Amino acid sequence: MLSVDEAREVVRAAVRPVRETEQLALGDALGRVLAGPVLAERDDPPFDRATMDGFAVRAADLTSLPRRLEVSGEVAAGDAQLPHCDPGCALRINTGAPLPPGADTVVPVELTREEVEILEPVAQGGNIVPRGGFVRRGDEVASGRLTPERLAVCAAAGADRVAVLRRPRVAVLGTGSELTTGLSEPGDHEIRNSNGPMLLALCSGAETRDLGAVADDPEQLLAAVRRGLEADVLITTGGVSKGVRDYVPDTFAACGVRESFHRIALQPGKPVWFGEHVGGVVFGLPGNPVSALVCADLFVMPYLLACAGGEWEHALLERRARITRPIQASPKRRRVFPCLLKDDEVTPIPWRGSGDLWSATAGNAYLVIPRDHALAAGDETVCLVPERHAASTWSA
Ligand code: AMP
Ligand code: MG
Repeated sequence: MLSVDEAREVVRAAVRPVRETEQLALGDALGRVLAGPVLAERDDPPFDRATMDGFAVRAADLTSLPRRLEVSGEVAAGDAQLPHCDPGCALRINTGAPLPPGADTVVPVELTREEVEILEPVAQGGNIVPRGGFVRRGDEVASGRLTPERLAVCAAAGADRVAVLRRPRVAVLGTGSELTTGLSEPGDHEIRNSNGPMLLALCSGAETRDLGAVADDPEQLLAAVRRGLEADVLITTGGVSKGVRDYVPDTFAACGVRESFHRIALQPGKPVWFGEHVGGVVFGLPGNPVSALVCADLFVMPYLLACAGGEWEHALLERRARITRPIQASPKRRRVFPCLLKDDEVTPIPWRGSGDLWSATAGNAYLVIPRDHALAAGDETVCLVPERHAASTWSA
């Protein structure tokens, strides 16, 4: 049986980065990964620009202070026609206005009195950003994932449409004859499919396809898995354990998916299945909701991030913390246990097994409990924090 680390290496080695691109309006591209660098269409600023409200002057007029100058006009941001600044003169100027010809310095209004006596020295070129002072035409202004800041820079650089990597396509399928279709009230023998909405939500950065749930029936399963294999990534839940109706691994094999691993030394999540086929990869997660969640965080989320042009490591951050309560180890498997992490203290969440999604909602991280290595209160240990919870692990 593979260890968790070995299994993660197998999944990592299977990453198939998305290469196809699509054109998007900049307003629709937040969070997407640029297919290539965006270049500046012109210099920024495109003209010598005043950075203060005050007076545009000639530095040669300021050799002895105080100095009275004649205010011969004004320049505002957006003015296309600029008056000339003659010797002995000053032009009133606003922040953002182009520097008028003849002037080489802006004196902030705070260093003057009346209109206008210059009281304090300003170096030549002071309070001006020269044309191209930030970016030159053709310079790279943005690459990688589009944050609001990079989006603004693209807008400033004139890129109102951008080429981005297409998102990975993910299909999510629940399996189990006990699952309701969601169309009717569940009978007492049935349960609602919670894994589907959970995985679709986890994968919301991808292009998701909800395949609903299918019964433990080889034919129905085969048809549903075939549909799922059209996606880059198929995620199923349930049917990978040792029950007599656990048909999922055989179904994958019948569809030409090569098994990379089945069952690993992990608690919860031991039955997890992973494999590859010509068109993509398949994660067969266990049906128990906490097992499915743990496996999604350990394997699926890093896989998707790496496919989409991000860094595998960024999906699950490692932190060290002291445990507030003792916790038992499993003799044969690594435990990856929901917990609440705050600063450098971590508290395990009391729970009632891998079906107990209710308790797991109190968590924001996972405690890692090495095989056969119980932890005492006060022990330092490793915690894994899913990217989506990173902010909540620090006190405000
Ligand atoms: P299995 O992995 O198929 O043996 O299922 C293990 C447990 O998870 C069973 O109690 C199932 O009823 C439950 N389960 C399976 N699929 C889902 C699902 N989609 N949503 C919620 N619970 C599920
Ligand atoms: Mg089942």
